[in-house]
Amino acid sequence: MQNYENFVNGKFVRSQGSHRIAVKNPANGAEICTVPDSGLDDVNAAVEAAEAAQKLWEKEPAASRAKLLRAIAAKIRQNIEPLARVITEEQGKTLGLARIEVEFTADYLDYMAEWGRRIEGEIVESDRKGETILLFRRPIGVIGGILPWNFPFFLIARKAGPALITGNTIVIKPSEETPHNAVKFCELLQQLDMPAGLINVVHGRGTGAGHGLASSPRIGMVSFTGSVETGSAVMSAAAKNITKVNLELGGKAPAIVMGDADLDLTVRAVKASRVLNSGQVCNCAERVYVQRSIAPEFVDRISAAMQATHFGDPLEDETVDYGPLINEAGYRKVERLVGRAVESGAQVRTGGKRGAGDKGYYYEPTVLTGCKQSMEIIRKEVFGPVIPIVEFDDLDEAIAYANDSDYGLTSSIYTRDLNVALRACQEIRFGETYINRENFEAMQGFHAGWRKSGLGGADGKHGLYEFLQTHMVYLQGY
Ligand code: NAD
Repeated sequence: MQNYENFVNGKFVRSQGSHRIAVKNPANGAEICTVPDSGLDDVNAAVEAAEAAQKLWEKEPAASRAKLLRAIAAKIRQNIEPLARVITEEQGKTLGLARIEVEFTADYLDYMAEWGRRIEGEIVESDRKGETILLFRRPIGVIGGILPWNFPFFLIARKAGPALITGNTIVIKPSEETPHNAVKFCELLQQLDMPAGLINVVHGRGTGAGHGLASSPRIGMVSFTGSVETGSAVMSAAAKNITKVNLELGGKAPAIVMGDADLDLTVRAVKASRVLNSGQVCNCAERVYVQRSIAPEFVDRISAAMQATHFGDPLEDETVDYGPLINEAGYRKVERLVGRAVESGAQVRTGGKRGAGDKGYYYEPTVLTGCKQSMEIIRKEVFGPVIPIVEFDDLDEAIAYANDSDYGLTSSIYTRDLNVALRACQEIRFGETYINRENFEAMQGFHAGWRKSGLGGADGKHGLYEFLQTHMVYLQGY
């Protein structure tokens, strides 16, 4: 078993502490490798390296910075298969999805590179004679990137891509569940001719390395993706230093199925949304509202579609639709929420229990009917292959149910009526709404949650500008 180290200033360096974290394959519990459980000294060393590198990096023209992002993207494309296998082994997603994640990561870096020649300032009209007012967009400095485990490789690019193209440098803390792919990413960086210290990776737990990064007075912005509870802790830690935070948090996406919906498309999209990555995706349909007139047919068809899905160890069988949940805690949460829903009157149409086999955290594809808006299963993020269904009579009721949530990340509606779709767009209070399509955001969009789902956002022009701060210059001519 390999023991990996942190990546600081272009080299793998030993942690200053002696504690290690064992990384396990969620499909069978086998240990894959260990990484350090880093402490504050490790975090500080990485921040120091990033700080020194940033002073030179911001002086590089953005077009040169773009070249580096393209070189990283090319390296990733040369290694799609080994990277996908590493991701699947530690995270449990299917190999097909892992390959998509790796390719999307390379595309994302190329997309961010395109911004090199498009970052713009402004010239503002002055009240004074002979004065020119200029608005520059400057890098913030060192970014702290704290990552979740569900799309661990892509999230490296979602933080490092915009950070580097805008002249910042970064210290990344991967999830302690999925650090191996980040190690492989750093090995690829070592093969490139690039300045040291631009991208640093410190492994460890949230309460140690994560908290150390969020509370560092030398970090310019903490860009965090993870749960609402941890997002709140990160915000508190950053508040001491008035450090900017960018938070991408959990979701409880509603899918509204109107009576006139194309049911073939709807069943395909809702099922795909719920089994993708074993249901562990922040923006996928977590609660389904079905118009009463078509509820029996929809329930029959979605139950049949879920029953037909096939799960298992994704490294042993490439044809599985989904693999195990990430860990015991993730599995217990799904089990608890389904159990409580049943106690409160929901009926299990299919699934509702642990998947066969004594190894791995598998949960059967599950459909629950008779759910009520007040149930925990409708209010809390489940993060598993579970579809809870609530029936409604009209659009007003469906929109009211959808908006009645602490979360505000994504939402969807299935209808053939343009007026209904337009009304939903105007009245649904979420950062994203998908109409007649599965939930998956574009890199040129803006992925930003309302309410407790986040602060600020990622992707596209608006995501890029989160990594810049303004500098006004008042230039008085004689
Ligand atoms: P998590 O909040 O448990 O952990 C995320 C990261 O935070 C990990 O690296 C962890 O070590 C670190 N952390 C934990 N405690 C910390 C602390 N006190 N200070 C600093 N860092 C700390 O989330 P997770 O279980 O890894 O990921 C799943 C969650 O992420 C779900 O809620 C999901 O919806 C959300 N998510 C959101 C998006 C989005 O774009 N909005 C994308 C992916 C995942």
